[in-house]
Amino acid sequence: MNYPSALDILAKAFPSDLYLVGGAVRDYVRGVETGDFDLAGAAKPDEIKSALRGGAFKVCDSSPKLGTLIISGEGARFEYTTFRTDSYPEGSGVHKPDGVVFTDDIQLDCRRRDFCCNAVYYDVKRGKIVDPLGGIGDIERRTLRTTRSATEVFCEDGLRIMRLVRFVSALGFSPDAEAESAARALADRLKDVSAERIRDELDKILQGKNVVNALELAHSLGVLGMILPELAANDGLAQPAKCHSYDVLRHSFHTVEAAREDIKLAALLHDVGKAEAWKKDGNMHNHAEYGAATAGEITRRLKYPNAVIAETETLVREHMYDINADARESRLRRFVARNHKVIDKLIALVRADSKGTGLFDDSPRADRFQSALDAMIKKKIPFTARQLAVNGNDIKKLGFKGEKIGEVLQELLTGCLDGNLGNDRETLLAAAAKLAGRTSKKEDL
Ligand code: ATP
Ligand code: MG
Repeated sequence: MNYPSALDILAKAFPSDLYLVGGAVRDYVRGVETGDFDLAGAAKPDEIKSALRGGAFKVCDSSPKLGTLIISGEGARFEYTTFRTDSYPEGSGVHKPDGVVFTDDIQLDCRRRDFCCNAVYYDVKRGKIVDPLGGIGDIERRTLRTTRSATEVFCEDGLRIMRLVRFVSALGFSPDAEAESAARALADRLKDVSAERIRDELDKILQGKNVVNALELAHSLGVLGMILPELAANDGLAQPAKCHSYDVLRHSFHTVEAAREDIKLAALLHDVGKAEAWKKDGNMHNHAEYGAATAGEITRRLKYPNAVIAETETLVREHMYDINADARESRLRRFVARNHKVIDKLIALVRADSKGTGLFDDSPRADRFQSALDAMIKKKIPFTARQLAVNGNDIKKLGFKGEKIGEVLQELLTGCLDGNLGNDRETLLAAAAKLAGRTSKKEDL
């Protein structure tokens, strides 16, 4: 098995047997490279700290109550978890165990894990696999089977249902019948899981190769209804056959699949406003406006960073611009300038939207945005007032005051975007002087 050589050095100094477990072993059995090395063993945090003291490895508590440590040294970093059994508060799906008992029995440790495919161990000192629950067979069959009764496993920690969907997306595995029906029955446990953890799993789900299957499963389990009810409401909402082969919800799934990795969330939410538009207006004309507001609510609720919230709102709001691909060049330039911070992502979203219909491979609209952008760069047309060849001081010298200065700069920018002004000092100062003349006749500058 391939792992950092630091691990052999660590194993030699370690006070108990030392095992790799989880993603690293799963990926090894699947024949895939991995970068994430989770360790486990019978040694307790204090024993490890004293055994490694003064050596090449640094040990930090990550969660002392749960027996997790970060061990780093010799160019590698590992997360270590002491063998344990967990107990969870009854009747809720909170992620954190309220009682933890350390054990030296691997047969007990494997049972507190979520899926058998994640409970395969690699004994580093002996160089052999330990597979107490038949997880290797599951990996070969690409099956997600819980380590105990599925009801028990999901009742304890609702996040495991999100993890199930994530493994479907990332690995192309499928839950067995028991795991699937328990997940369906217990999807409401997600209400006890923190927004941040749901968000982190959602992000991983969206990056998976099998994202369409995973989102379909999430919907059928009721997971989507729990975490994104506004999106789930688009199920069955039909769209004109000449532009779409899917209903709104499936189109959203396929758009995510077609989207670049940095716009997956916007792809998922780009049409979220359609159900609301249909309900309120009987048509979908204003779905981008409705959708932008809803996408803002969703991303705030899931505690995304402010920059992601703002960007997602903008992408959703603007994704329908120039829907008939007939806007004048000057309008396109204004659109590009207005959205210059996200224009690259917006173009990528429009392309994914088009692919996500299941009918088209290209997007004339995206091509038009791209060529407007390219031409602006080539001709050095400014995107913002700051890029103008004049600044606020220049405008002030012409006699303008306060807010007026910004307005004049905006007007000059619009002149450049519309192709009426060149971005050079002489032209802009002349244009501003003209504005001053016009204004001074009517009012104070
Ligand atoms: P990856 O690292 O590829 O995201 P992983 O399976 O290694 O996937 P981690 O979150 O790194 O996932 O956790 C390591 C192991 O710890 C898992 O394989 C699993 O055995 C166990 N585990 C993690 N989270 C849970 C959980 N919520 N419930 C039960 N066991 C868990
Ligand atoms: Mg891992």
